[in-house]
This record gives sequence, structure tokens and C-alpha cells, in this order.
Amino acid sequence: MKRPTILVLGAGYGGLTTVVNLQKSLGADDADVVLINKNDYHYESTWLHEAAAGTMSPESVRYDIANVINSNKVKFIKAEVQAIDVSGKVVTTNVGTHTYDYLVISLGFEGETFGIPGLDKYAFSIANVKAARQIREHIEYQFATWSTEEVKDDSRLTIIVGGAGFTGIEFLGELGNRVPELCKEFDVPQEKVRVLCVEAAPMVLPGFDPELVEYAVKQLNSKGIEFSIGTPVVEATPEGVNLKKGEDEFEFIKAGTVVWAAGVRGNRLIEETGIENMRARVKVDKDLRAPGHSDVFIVGDCALMINEEVNRPFPPTAQIAMQQGDMCANNIIALMKGNPTSEFVPDLKGSVCSLGDSDAIGVVFGKKVTGTKASFMKKMIDNRALFMIGGAGLTLKKGKFNLLK
Ligand code: FAD
Ligand code: NAD
Repeated sequence: MKRPTILVLGAGYGGLTTVVNLQKSLGADDADVVLINKNDYHYESTWLHEAAAGTMSPESVRYDIANVINSNKVKFIKAEVQAIDVSGKVVTTNVGTHTYDYLVISLGFEGETFGIPGLDKYAFSIANVKAARQIREHIEYQFATWSTEEVKDDSRLTIIVGGAGFTGIEFLGELGNRVPELCKEFDVPQEKVRVLCVEAAPMVLPGFDPELVEYAVKQLNSKGIEFSIGTPVVEATPEGVNLKKGEDEFEFIKAGTVVWAAGVRGNRLIEETGIENMRARVKVDKDLRAPGHSDVFIVGDCALMINEEVNRPFPPTAQIAMQQGDMCANNIIALMKGNPTSEFVPDLKGSVCSLGDSDAIGVVFGKKVTGTKASFMKKMIDNRALFMIGGAGLTLKKGKFNLLK
């Protein structure tokens, strides 16, 4: 019998975990495992706020895919996926086409702008490592330009962060540490800098534990970060953003940098597959297959699963993407052997939100944590993700070991 081709699209948390598990469990002759990713490196999406603020170099956030795959068992192709035809079972990339017996779509997230005018054009999104580098360099450019221009435009030194969800708050935490460094480096008086977070909901980190939210806001305020709550961004222009402050009340805020961190959607390629989706996320079957497509698995941020306890989707996280990668590999192997597939049940251990290098808030195994203890846990979680994919070698090379700082 012809050995099956397993085609995995995307080398983020979901895709790489799938591939690493397949290569652990399959012999070199059992299947042709092909991994396609647009870069020859993986980046830690969960560290992108650090690269964007400039508290970590973009190089530290990424590692070569070749370091974690066994080339005897997995063929890696650097290519950009352009179309996925699930009826014809063909994937088109910029360097060729590929057929498959089993397809794993793990193409990750994109920033969601909800159609708000101007955001696509005038705001940055912490969506990948190149975008993070661009944000860092744009902020540095604004500081450098302010310090050399004769007629000073102070709005260059205003940074607006749209959204006070986990991404917005983690980015603000890094900015809290980075702004004093930038002021020193570019001879900018710190009182000229304004960092403002704008949130549509009536609270920061909507739905999170109020006591922890209060701690986070206090810590960020102490670093000079301001919040405008209950004031959705309704427009972005080349000069800044317009906020809705009341029924017919708006306020325009001039800013040299606008970073949009107000939510994510799945990869836009999903929308062209013909598979039913919501904001490019597919409500997958319990075994992670796309409804009506028994040979297509979807994992990570392109997949949507409902948490029946609260009747809302599970949040798109790396934690869930990696667990889905494990299960996806197991289920493909089960199908290859003619065995039944298993149901995916997320094992949620909690969540920790960093507030800069040495501070954080979180709920872990049901317990609240703050400060250096929470920050320590966040770094351990980051190191665990490296370990799960690349073992001790990768963890030692790329891990975070300033644990008690
Ligand atoms: P991704 O990690 O986005 O990977 C997708 C991969 O597909 C990438 O390698 C990309 O280059 C590739 N790709 C995309 N399009 C194409 C194409 N057309 N062709 C070829 N390749 C392509 N979650 C947590 O659980 N904990 C956290 O602490 C946490 N922190 C976060 C911090 C930030 C700043 C952000 C933005 C997110 C954070 N998340 C966190 C969420 C988490 O990062 C995502 O849920 C996770 O990355 C989803 O994994 P994935 O495998 O679906 O996709
Ligand atoms: P999110 O959807 O969690 O938060 C987006 C925020 O933007 C919300 O508070 C929302 O009210 C606000 N918003 C929406 N429209 C707005 C508007 N017009 N103006 C102003 N504010 C607006 O998105 P996220 O923070 O990007 O997180 C995406 C996913 O990644 C989530 O699942 C999150 O849990 C995960 N994540 C986890 C961590 C962590 O565990 N440490 C860190 C970052 C992200």
C-alpha cells in the first residue's frame, strides 16, 4: 500500500507540535511528512510583545526549524501557502503545488480590525516577528526624529495601544520598561512621552479576576501608562485615532505610533477554502477534523472549539494550540492504523499575563499569583514550550533564565 502523505501547513505552536509528535511516533518509511512554512524559522508568538517593544531582540524570539525536525522523517519546505483546495486535495504555494492524504492546517492568527476604518493602513499589529521588528524600529525612529527636529512635534512621542486584552497589557508592560531606556538613548525628557491604552469594554482585561486587574493597572500606572476605558477606537488616520467617548462625543488623539492589539482572527486563507468559518476560524469536530472533511485537521488559532461550561469559544492560545498538536498527531496515526480517533479535551492549567520583565499576574491551578512569583511562572511556561518542541538543547539555547529578576 502507498504510504500516506501528511502535509502540515504552518510551523507555529500547533504545526510544530504536530510534526514533532509525528516524527517521534512514526518510522521513516511509515509516511511522507511534509512541513510547509513561509520562513525557515519558527517564532515564539507568545514573546512578540517583547520584540515589538524592543526589550528583546527579534533574533531571540525565533529559532531555525531545522533544529527541531528530523530530516530523515520530515521534509521541510520553505514556501508561502497561497491556496488550499480541500475538494481537489491540493495546496498551492509560491514554489509549487502539493497533494496530501492528510492535511493539517495550522496557519495561525492575524490581527482583527473589525472593519474599523484606517486601522489596516495606519496601525501596527503584533502579528509576527517581522511586524514586531517594524514596531520597534518605528518607535525608535519617532524618538530619534523628535530629538533632531527643530520644531518639535511632541505627538511623535505618543504611543497608543488599542485593546487592553492580554496582548495589549503585556506590550504595555514591556513599554513601561523600554520607555526610560529610549529616553536615555535619544535624549528625550520622559515627561514628553505619553503611552495611552484605549479599551472599548468598561474594564481592563475584561473577564479576568478584578483583584489581579487592579494590581496590573496600578503597576502600569506607576510606570506612567494611562488608560482610557469604555472608549472604543472608531477610526485611525495618519495622525492618530478617533475615540468614541459618548453618544455623540468623540475625541481625536494625535499619536506617532498606534499599535492595534484588540483581538485576533484566523488566517485569511481559511476563508477561501469553502469550509464554514467564523472570522477565519473553523468550528472543528471533537477530534479536530474540519466538518465534512475527514482528511483535514485544523489546529491552533484557525480552529474554534466551544467551552460548553460557559457556552463560549475557548480563547485562541499557544497552550491549546500545542495540546491540539499532540492530539492531531495521535489521531492521524490512529486513522493510518484503522483505529478510532480520540476526542480533544483542553487541559487548562491557567493563564499568566506579564507586566514587564519582573512582574506579572496570573491564575495558575486556580490560585492567584502576582509580582516576581508570577513572572517566574511565566518564564517557566515559556521555557516549557521550548522544551516540549525542542527538548533540553533548545531550552538551554533560547530559554529565559533570568528567572528571579
Ligand atoms: P502561530 O503561532 O501564529 O503560527 C502560524 C505559523 O504559520 C507561523 O509560523 C507563520 O509564519 C506560518 N504561516 C502563516 N501564514 C502562512 C502562509 N500563508 N504560508 C506559510 N506559512 C504561513 N498564548 C498563550 O497560551 N500564552 C501566552 O503567554 C501568549 N502570549 C501571547 C503574546 C502575544 C504578543 C500574542 C500576539 C499572542 C500570545 N498568545 C499566547 C497566543 C498565541 O501566541 C497563539 O494562540 C498561538 O501562537 C497560536 O498558535 P498557532 O500554531 O495556531 O499559530
Ligand atoms: P483579546 O480579544 O483577548 O482582547 C482584545 C481587547 O481589545 C478586548 O479587551 C476588547 O474589548 C478590546 N477591543 C476590541 N475592539 C476595540 C476597539 N474598537 N477599541 C478599543 N478596544 C477594543 O485579544 P488579544 O489580547 O490580542 O489576545 C488574543 C488571544 O491571545 C487571546 O486568546 C489571549 O488569551 C491570548 N493571549 C494570551 C496571553 C497570555 O496568556 N499571557 C498573552 C497574549 C495573548
